[in-house]
Amino acid sequence: MNNDILNQSIEFIKGIGPARSKLLSEELNLKTVKDLIDFYPYRYIDRSRFFKINELPKNQSEVQIVGKIKSVKRTKVRFRNRLNCEFYDDTGKVDLIWYRGFNWVEESIKTNEEYVIYGKLSWFGNNPSIAHPEIKTKDSFNRNIPRRLHGIYSSTEKLVNEGVTQKYFVKIIYNLLNSLQNQIKENLSYNILNKYNLIDRYKAIVNIHLPESQELLSGSTKRLKFEELFFNQLGFQLSKNERIQKLNGFKFEKVGDHLNEFYKNNLPFELTGDQKKVIKEIRNDFRDGKQMNRLLQGDVGSGKTIVSLMVMLIAIDNGFQSCILAPTEILANQHFKSIMELLSELDVKIDLLTGSVKAKDRKLIHRDLLSGKTKILVGTHAILEDIVQFKNLGLSIVDEQHRFGVAQRAKLWKKNTPAPHVLVMTATPIPRTLAMSLYGDLDISSIKELPPGRITTKTVHKYDKNRLSVFKFLRDQITRGRQVYLVYPLINESEKLDYKDLMDGYESIVREFPRPDFQVSIVHGKMKSKDKDFEMNRFINKETQILVSTTVIEVGVNVPNASVMVIESAERFGLSQLHQLRGRVGRGNEESYCVLMTKDKLSEESKIRVDTMVNVSDGFKLAEVDLKLRGPGDMMGTRQSGVLKFKLADIIYDSEILNNARKSAYELLESDPRLIKKENYPIRHEISTSSNSKNLWRYIS
Ligand code: ADP
Ligand code: MG
Repeated sequence: MNNDILNQSIEFIKGIGPARSKLLSEELNLKTVKDLIDFYPYRYIDRSRFFKINELPKNQSEVQIVGKIKSVKRTKVRFRNRLNCEFYDDTGKVDLIWYRGFNWVEESIKTNEEYVIYGKLSWFGNNPSIAHPEIKTKDSFNRNIPRRLHGIYSSTEKLVNEGVTQKYFVKIIYNLLNSLQNQIKENLSYNILNKYNLIDRYKAIVNIHLPESQELLSGSTKRLKFEELFFNQLGFQLSKNERIQKLNGFKFEKVGDHLNEFYKNNLPFELTGDQKKVIKEIRNDFRDGKQMNRLLQGDVGSGKTIVSLMVMLIAIDNGFQSCILAPTEILANQHFKSIMELLSELDVKIDLLTGSVKAKDRKLIHRDLLSGKTKILVGTHAILEDIVQFKNLGLSIVDEQHRFGVAQRAKLWKKNTPAPHVLVMTATPIPRTLAMSLYGDLDISSIKELPPGRITTKTVHKYDKNRLSVFKFLRDQITRGRQVYLVYPLINESEKLDYKDLMDGYESIVREFPRPDFQVSIVHGKMKSKDKDFEMNRFINKETQILVSTTVIEVGVNVPNASVMVIESAERFGLSQLHQLRGRVGRGNEESYCVLMTKDKLSEESKIRVDTMVNVSDGFKLAEVDLKLRGPGDMMGTRQSGVLKFKLADIIYDSEILNNARKSAYELLESDPRLIKKENYPIRHEISTSSNSKNLWRYIS
């Protein structure tokens, strides 16, 4: 498209002028020609279809009917006048009602004239009525209302008062699009249009504003959504290609002694198919000489640890060191312990570095890292400090990536040149569509299969009024030697009310479960981390049977003997979070339970959420439902929602289009990485001129 024209003020569009242009800018932020072209209707009404009265839908849809008015009556209801007309076709009657401004109706209605009415239905029992319908003589309808779909533009009262009506929008946009017929250029290649059966751009823009038919409207929407997602995905692919070209990575070609020995003699169980698949994917990355940047998602308990361990062994076999980063000290300790156990038969030096390591020991750790003696470093943020230097770091693993920011990941990159391979692991599965639009430049591996013999956690929903029976059940479990989590929501760390709930809850639990028979720990975000760890450890060491806490235990903690998770005010948690919490239990071989406590009256949405938790145990499926219930912005937190704002496309419902857009962007760059082939000129041209895609230009210029 020609940018000069597109960036012109709408003031110069035929029929607008300075006053209205100012108004449109103030009210709807429409400033340039491009703004107006992109100002699509937010819904459509069908003026091609006529209903018979006896076939009217029994809901509140907008309908159009031809018929005659038999009577016009002014009535008074509670001192207020209204006008009531009986409107008939040959199948029945509709009441037309005006509450105000009906003098002209009263005066001009003729009882033998044919009218077309249009408006929103109401039903009183079996009697349909329409308030304030649009009413036109058949004649005037035929002259003025095109029988087709009409787009409805969002507007404001002020605009309407100033004469910027729906009709006005249609007129200026119709004129504008006519005058731009030769300026609105195709921006996809013929190949892509053809392969994905897309209509051409100009036609799509015309038909999204002024659809000739339902089919053309769908075709236009599809085409424009595709375009939107295509350039989004093309951006990811271009940036990924650049990273791959620029960032050489270490090549790990050998499969050496450590991995072989571990595999033959120390592997405690048969790997699941998905674990094998993921290890293979990572090994392929290791072999191709590029820096790996991979996200590994797998439900809680799916066995990510062993995968990370085995790929670290590959690094060691190729002469490199590895580190694994955990978000909390407790988690780092757990990783350290399990890795030490798994590798106890091998001669590999492993160190643990956290905030509480004493200065003296720290020095030794630093020394052994630098000399290369230590092969695996497990730790918290402490690893990131500049003073921590490796001899030859080849692989960094980040557990529970959503607790780490991009800046922290970048610090890991700087620990060696070229940057070490990076594997981020998360137990919060992200729906594929979301992952594609958020982390489009990361490679993604998934473990969907759980290790065999896992007993699914039984999930039940209990209302507050049944609390006593829940307590009885807990007592029962504790008597059998089990341990129990009791979690309170803490949506906002600073909310006083939440803390009050937590402390009240704690007190009532201590009352219900008195010492010395029962011991209760409490952990929350306002405690010092030393105290937190102390209380946590009492629970881990079975000194206490009940752990009352806020969601601080959400991440990673492993206490196989804990078999019950009680979640208070479960209606206040999102699905992903509930699932994370539930994942804390069911880690041993015993039957385990998740109890969702809620208030007695639940909203529709909360009920769906709770029921979904009761019925679905697969984290990937839950993530999909969560996405549908909450939308991408809420699910990922507001920080990321901006990235996901598409004008037309909806990553929940348009996943097929998204898949195709991604695939076509990939195929395009495979065959023409810098977009220099003639057939791809439209795409190149779009990138060089359009303000939306301008940031891609640096990749291909
Ligand atoms: P997560 O993915 O949550 O980090 P872990 O790696 O902690 O899961 O594994 C959870 C449990 O499952 C551990 O006790 C681990 O030993 C066990 N496990 C992992 N893989 C397998 C397997 N293939 N077969 C049997 N048990 C396994
Ligand atoms: Mg884990």
